Amino acid sequence: MKEEKVLPYPCRCGGRLVKVPMHVEYFGIDFGIREGHMCTKCGDEYLTDEIWQEIEDKAKGLEFLALREK
Ligand SMILES: [Zn+2]
Repeated sequence: MKEEKVLPYPCRCGGRLVKVPMHVEYFGIDFGIREGHMCTKCGDEYLTDEIWQEIEDKAKGLEFLALREK
């Protein structure tokens, strides 16, 4: 039996969410392989709040740089 890390809350479709490693890339920035959540029913993938925060911080930094370049 394959060991799955099932999350305590379901997907919006009612399916089970499991923790899976996924490659995260946003704004052309490679965040590497991070832990994400995937629904075993509909296949939707979600990133954790922690990673969203990281992406947001990075995006703000890029915006800042872009403004400085002008
Ligand atoms: Zn789902």
